[in-house]
Amino acid sequence: MNKIALAIHGGAGTLVKGMMTPELEKRYKEDLNTALQEGYIILAKGGSSIDAVERSVNCLEDSPLFNAGKGSVFTATGDHEMDASIMDGKSRNAGAISLVSGIRNPISLARDVMEKSEHVFLAGEGAIEFAKKLNYIFEDKSYFYDSLRYNQWQELKGTEDFKLDHSHKKDSKFGTVGAVACDLDGNLAAATSTGGMTNKRFGRIGDSSLIGVGNYANNNTCAVSCTGSGEFFIRAVVAYDVSCLMEYKGLSLKEAADIVINKRLLDLGGDGGLIAVDKQGNITMPFNTEGMYRASKVSDEKELIAIYGT
Ligand code: ASP
Repeated sequence: MNKIALAIHGGAGTLVKGMMTPELEKRYKEDLNTALQEGYIILAKGGSSIDAVERSVNCLEDSPLFNAGKGSVFTATGDHEMDASIMDGKSRNAGAISLVSGIRNPISLARDVMEKSEHVFLAGEGAIEFAKKLNYIFEDKSYFYDSLRYNQWQELKGTEDFKLDHSHKKDSKFGTVGAVACDLDGNLAAATSTGGMTNKRFGRIGDSSLIGVGNYANNNTCAVSCTGSGEFFIRAVVAYDVSCLMEYKGLSLKEAADIVINKRLLDLGGDGGLIAVDKQGNITMPFNTEGMYRASKVSDEKELIAIYGT
């Protein structure tokens, strides 16, 4: 029987000194653990990898600690514009949404685009119109308000600068969330959801909603979810590059992901990380930043929950 495996992330980067207290670290780990267990239980009961990744990402979207759903950062105009994408490695069906406000769980809307529309990617008004047709509930701005995120925006408001969700480049942290899974049938899936970057320009789309860039799944190779400086991830076509190195060069999951994050992305000047799984249930979670909120569990092994590098 196939191994089941699930990995999740809550963003890569460096924590601003003095911001991480033992209490906060505990909260991060608790929310990561909840998201991991909720997704894992679906796999353990014989459920599909696509259901598992959606569930884990829903949990992370509902936590104010991560830059997705409830915890989304502020745009230059003081709004929240969220991006998300999901992919099924068996059928290679995919769904993505971008520039969406008011939706609690953008990853579920991306899944609806995959399953209930003829399209792969809906953005802005069109995505909102689609959500309305499906009777999504729209939250008002107070649901997404977080004083930390608001203050981060105040530091940048009125400037041309846009930042990952901590203000100092060198001390930056990215809070995008994602999940990758391998189910009992060896089917892979990946899901990624984000609020993007603080003070980002109206209309800016990052890597997280782009299939093959911030998110990709293919049963022949791997499932990948990324986090980091989106503009660089787009130019490096990160997620698909990991898959290609496995498919065309015969590299292992770990070798492929390491080269992409620690060589190809770094050479362009990009920082961040990814989580990936293959159909044997191997997991790898490389990052070229000081840390990445992450958790994983393979079959009956003990789970791993970590923030910093080892
Ligand atoms: N990759 C995301 C973006 O550029 C940011 C992040 O990972 O936190 O929108």
